[in-house]
Amino acid sequence: MALTHILGYPRIGAGRELKKALEAYWRGDLPQRELLAVGAEIRRGNWQAQREAGLELVTVGDFAWYDQVLNHTLMFGAVPPRFDEGAADNKLDQYFRIARGRAPSGSPVAASAMTKWFDTNYHYLVPEFSADQNFALDSDWLLTEVQEARSQGHNTKAVVIGPLTYLWLGRAEGDALALLPKLLPCYTQLLRELAEAGVEWVQLDEPILGLDLPGAWRDAFAPAYRELNAAVPALKLLLATYFSSLQENLPLAFALPVDGVHIDCVRAPEELSTAVEALGPNQVLSAGVLNGRNVWRGDLASWQSRLKPIAEQLGDRLWLSASCSLLHCPVDLETETGLPAEQRQKLAYSRQKLEELKQLQSLLQQDAATDASASVAAVSSSTALEELQDTWRPQSYAERAPLQAKRWQLPLLPTTTIGSFPQTDLLRKVRKQFRSGEISEQDYRDHLRAEIAEAIRRQEILGLDVLVHGEAERNDMVEYFGEQLEGFVHTGNGWVQSYGSRCVKPPIIFGDISRPKPMTVEWISYAQSLTKKPVKGMLTGPVTILNWSFPREDIPRAESCLQIAKALRQEVLDLEEAGIGIIQIDEPALREGVPLRESEHKAYFDWAVACFRYTCSQVKPETQIHTHMCYSNFNAIMDAIVALDADVITIESSRSDLQLLHAFSGEKGGYPNEIGPGVYDIHSPNVPQREELVARLKKIAEVIPLEKLWVNPDCGLKTRSWAEVGSSLLNMVEAARTLRAEL
Ligand code: GLN
Ligand code: ZN
Repeated sequence: MALTHILGYPRIGAGRELKKALEAYWRGDLPQRELLAVGAEIRRGNWQAQREAGLELVTVGDFAWYDQVLNHTLMFGAVPPRFDEGAADNKLDQYFRIARGRAPSGSPVAASAMTKWFDTNYHYLVPEFSADQNFALDSDWLLTEVQEARSQGHNTKAVVIGPLTYLWLGRAEGDALALLPKLLPCYTQLLRELAEAGVEWVQLDEPILGLDLPGAWRDAFAPAYRELNAAVPALKLLLATYFSSLQENLPLAFALPVDGVHIDCVRAPEELSTAVEALGPNQVLSAGVLNGRNVWRGDLASWQSRLKPIAEQLGDRLWLSASCSLLHCPVDLETETGLPAEQRQKLAYSRQKLEELKQLQSLLQQDAATDASASVAAVSSSTALEELQDTWRPQSYAERAPLQAKRWQLPLLPTTTIGSFPQTDLLRKVRKQFRSGEISEQDYRDHLRAEIAEAIRRQEILGLDVLVHGEAERNDMVEYFGEQLEGFVHTGNGWVQSYGSRCVKPPIIFGDISRPKPMTVEWISYAQSLTKKPVKGMLTGPVTILNWSFPREDIPRAESCLQIAKALRQEVLDLEEAGIGIIQIDEPALREGVPLRESEHKAYFDWAVACFRYTCSQVKPETQIHTHMCYSNFNAIMDAIVALDADVITIESSRSDLQLLHAFSGEKGGYPNEIGPGVYDIHSPNVPQREELVARLKKIAEVIPLEKLWVNPDCGLKTRSWAEVGSSLLNMVEAARTLRAEL
């Protein structure tokens, strides 16, 4: 009989208990011992859920107070010295200082950097390795959790990030791979301790096997795993891969001295049969067939027929699982009380996926169903793309630019902002009152108008050149459009951890998308009616709306993206018709959707870029299209960004030491149109001084021609206070004026 297990379970709690407890602890409102109790209770509940569902193994080691990579950094003693102060007295606070720069005890210090976990929207804390980095095992937390689980009577499998992936994730002063010989003794020691603690299986996560790995990294796997296996031959190792196909790394993965391999059958269903062939006679194959990154019920009937022969061949050497850790899936559909039954029945959150694994297990013991559920005929993405081909803006930037310059008469170094202005406590309160029915829609709208009027008034006083309405009507840049568009479903409790205590609640694309009526025109037009200066229309782009939602699985993502693009194009044209001549279409999530394998990049960019261009394909040449992306590593996607052909792109750049700007400078085919590199960091409460900004702009001007340069902050200002925003923008406008006067 096939065994069932999962790679990991969400740790935020079904009611986001961990988030609430963490934030209370950080505020000083919850004693540490109570925080510890909340964590222990979540772990107990998670293990219990796996046990109740009937999973043969219960996974331990997937809990983290903030981030699982940070857990490993502490476990291997790889904490940078700046976090040493006070660590002896309070290890948990040291952990939080690494994660967020501050904790209830100890002095504030610069936190470690955070970055995205592969192609997910989860962020991990990047390990920092010095050139002479040493490691020392402190397995306390993991061993304690293993004991906790065992004392609760669970058959435990421990999960640990594998040594190669852990090193790969870090930022090393030298070559991270060179640290492997120093790191491996920690792993062998850890495995010994786990075996002594009674653990039979250890899952070692090596998702980097799904990447285009440099040869040296690939070659390092076999000797490293030989060493691990030799240290504790009796301990069973499950090598876990996910998020991508293994391709050339598949033979390598199965040839390692491990007792089993997990593969992601959602991302790479085609590799299942190769994997069965490559499987050693005593190895276990863990097939990740339920999508750990989406909310739909699995197609159990089709997996039943697909897996039946494999189950017969492998017996209990076939394990059933979700594709990856359920960290990326909401916790429990039971808590979702507001959804109509016909929607609910199509969904499975983490807890329901446990049940599905058991259902699949029992289906595999029966005869295969005769009619494996008719799968929905998917519209091929090539059809979708064909439709996109000849819908691009007819005039080139060179033709558009003079018309736009003539229309707008902007000064050199025009100043603008990225869209949102502070979402004040009052605004949040009023929105809450409206949502709970305490105030009428009319009152809510009146309040939003007042917020917009205030934003315009302030921008006029500050002297900005291109104004924005401030996005007061939006709680979130994707949710807002999801709520206006047909085809989306918004859950009440579909939270997924993004980083630390931060969770996101992506809408679900439930069906075909369309726009019943204009979504933003009223607000932007109102803002424009209050000023003679141009107000930028503000939209979230199709790729970002798609990438920050749970997508359909019955049609290609490209197809949904095109549907969103069509809806947005109507909105763009309505804005233009209403006299809005500068329109920004944000695509901060363009990079996030990039496949992990380079060979798949082109297909993604083909449709992603085409969908963006489609949104503005019918505007007049004198209408100026802006886009915005808030990150700074553009290397891999520069060609795509150029292909978007926005008249102006604003980017995050203030923390990137200008090297990024060289990519944009046009030296080697950089960005040919206009660019607004963020001149200050909006994530920091510090107000940038005018002299600083002037100096920065001068440096930027050495790289980017003045006539193409815009002046703006890094990103939207919704998380800041008006006091900070007012002073920062005033200095920014003054800096631009200073520079203009010097020219
Ligand atoms: N227009 C959005 C804002 O200013 C952009 C946010 C983003 O890039 N994440 O808030
Ligand atoms: Zn941004």
